[in-house]
Amino acid sequence: MDLSILYRGPLASCDYDCGYCPFAKRRDSPETLRADRAALERFVAWVTAQTEDRISVLFTPWGEALTRSWYRRALVGLSCLDHVGEAAIQTNLSSRAGWTTGADLDSLALWCTYHPDQVPYERFLGRCFELRDGGVRFSVGIVGVPEHLAAARRLRADLPEDVYLWVNAAEGRTYTDAEAEPWSELDPLFPVSRFPHPSQGHACRAGESVISVNGDGEVYRCHFVSRTDPTERLGNLYDGSYRDALRPRLCPLTQCDCHIGYVHMPELGLHNTFAGGVLSRIPAGAPVLRSAAVAGTRPR
Ligand code: SF4
Ligand code: SF4
Repeated sequence: MDLSILYRGPLASCDYDCGYCPFAKRRDSPETLRADRAALERFVAWVTAQTEDRISVLFTPWGEALTRSWYRRALVGLSCLDHVGEAAIQTNLSSRAGWTTGADLDSLALWCTYHPDQVPYERFLGRCFELRDGGVRFSVGIVGVPEHLAAARRLRADLPEDVYLWVNAAEGRTYTDAEAEPWSELDPLFPVSRFPHPSQGHACRAGESVISVNGDGEVYRCHFVSRTDPTERLGNLYDGSYRDALRPRLCPLTQCDCHIGYVHMPELGLHNTFAGGVLSRIPAGAPVLRSAAVAGTRPR
């Protein structure tokens, strides 16, 4: 069986302070951190034992997890397993890249979000080049609000051309064609993010070959269909009860507006677009996607 898992444990803290985010500068208690570590180690042990399956993992923490040693170790360990495809994480890239030494770089991948008001530009770009120099696969992205446009253009120009820069439509924002144009020039796939995708009654791999797993092993189809509704629970990872629930499903929600969700809707064909990097948002043939933005050289 091919299974993609979006994992989110109890950790809910971040070293950044984005104004709109409930996890900004939040600190977890020592008890929560211990519980998060134990849950993650249990999850990694479970994946390690599933040698009959082909498994890909994306860690989607509330907050930032690469500041925690257990996530760094988990990614290195998972990447080295023969039956693991992608071992990926969403990160603000505040951590240095040295931990990636020892990982299998065919499997390890990072989904990096740039927050221009939280980190000096040169530091963020330097982190990208650390990954690049270490041979780590990654995508870089930004939220498409007007105040980010200059920074996004600068980043596109300075990043190597085979690094994909994605742009997320800002939540709740409607883009006129004129407003969308500069973002589409930076990210040729911005039109996919620009509008939420109608999904009610549409096929989705979530609940069939993609699942969402909590720290306690509770399994739901995705991060968006209610994870508190007992009728939507698919079972538990650790007692194997989720497995009988895996089957083709139709989405119950009106729309799906997040890449980690709609990327799994077959009608959009995005598994082909992102072949090899579905979870980490790295398109197949990323250089082909380069827009008219000018390719930059590595800054000194
Ligand atoms: S980096 Fe992400 S998790 Fe951290 S405060 Fe900003 S939006 Fe929230
Ligand atoms: S379309 Fe989106 S919201 Fe609906 S089941 Fe799939 S991932 Fe979940």
